[in-house]
Amino acid sequence: MTKIISVRTRVWNWKGKTVPPQMNFCTNASDVLYDRGDAMDSFRFHQWLTCEIETDDGTIGIGNAALAPNLVKAAIDQYYAPLVIGEDPFDYAYLWEKMYRHTHAWGRKGIGMAAISAIDIAIWDLMGKLVDKPVFKLLGGRTKEKIPVYYSKLYSDSVEAMQAEAQEAMGHGYTAFKARFGFGPKDGMLGMRENLKRVEALREVIGYDKDLMLECYMGWNLDYTKRMLPMLEKYQLRWLEEPVIADDMHGYAELNQGSIPISGGEHEFGLMGFRQLLDMKAVSVIQYDTNRVGGITAAQKINALAEAYQVPVIPHAGQMHNYHLTMANANCPIAEYFPMHDVEIGNELFYYIFEGDPVAKDGFIDLDDNKSGLGIKISDQYLDQFEVVE
Ligand SMILES: [Mg+2]
Repeated sequence: MTKIISVRTRVWNWKGKTVPPQMNFCTNASDVLYDRGDAMDSFRFHQWLTCEIETDDGTIGIGNAALAPNLVKAAIDQYYAPLVIGEDPFDYAYLWEKMYRHTHAWGRKGIGMAAISAIDIAIWDLMGKLVDKPVFKLLGGRTKEKIPVYYSKLYSDSVEAMQAEAQEAMGHGYTAFKARFGFGPKDGMLGMRENLKRVEALREVIGYDKDLMLECYMGWNLDYTKRMLPMLEKYQLRWLEEPVIADDMHGYAELNQGSIPISGGEHEFGLMGFRQLLDMKAVSVIQYDTNRVGGITAAQKINALAEAYQVPVIPHAGQMHNYHLTMANANCPIAEYFPMHDVEIGNELFYYIFEGDPVAKDGFIDLDDNKSGLGIKISDQYLDQFEVVE
């Protein structure tokens, strides 16, 4: 039997150059507060957590988490690591339940589930390495020749800047694009016009033969979204993302009755959280994030459930753990792709920590049939630009 002998967590604090976001960069849940301060502060995260699990034969599996890395590190070190040390990584379903049930009083959503996710992802990487197969081959194998991806950036900016960015992305062969709204309820009618002007401008560049998705990042509310939806209808959106806060499931359900598909789930956790969303017909696209939702073990169960409801799953963020699930599930039609750029939000930090992520070409990525595990390793290329806390 292979045994887990250690769990190593490291927090990576980015110290290198960052791009300051401009005004009205992206709406977010803090916009509702009267004292805005730097509302974007809750949106940026220049930290990441890596979780390396080693077995007695010296194999190391790598997992990661991007939510509140300092707290997730403490949770793993103090509570979760002792639950998996000495165990066989191939007992992954048992280990998942052990972690989930031992910490159920406080861990079932949020920090606890992010910690479980990081460990579970590392265990899957480990299993792939131990049997010398890519993780997607353990999950069902190749359901696609390659994975279509959508260009995910287009933060709200001047009309000209957004059009130029869309034009450049078109040049790289992308056929689907996601943009962010910069204006929400606090900006009134004028903000609505500003939002619509940008959607119109993007359609002008990409035309109507390509997919356009729009992201609110929980920065709108039910009333505002109900007023915006009729005005957005003519732009033929593939989906409108996270219009309201994650807890407002009834709001999602009401909005999703309209003609624009509503997407969400990147801030939902676990199989039963998604059962609720599906039962309520709250989303038309599921966007769990594997490194929050409960790792690959939970994600694969949600995939099966979503397939039964015929709701497509398009995981939040690029990254290997999401790509392997997308490759192995016919109900995952496309993947999100963050183009590599200077550090801005923090989404892009994984490019600076890991190496091995596929680079999009003509709107597709592919996974290597011959690379075992997730196919990434921790890079030392940017090491000097991080403060690493162990
Ligand atoms: Mg999102």
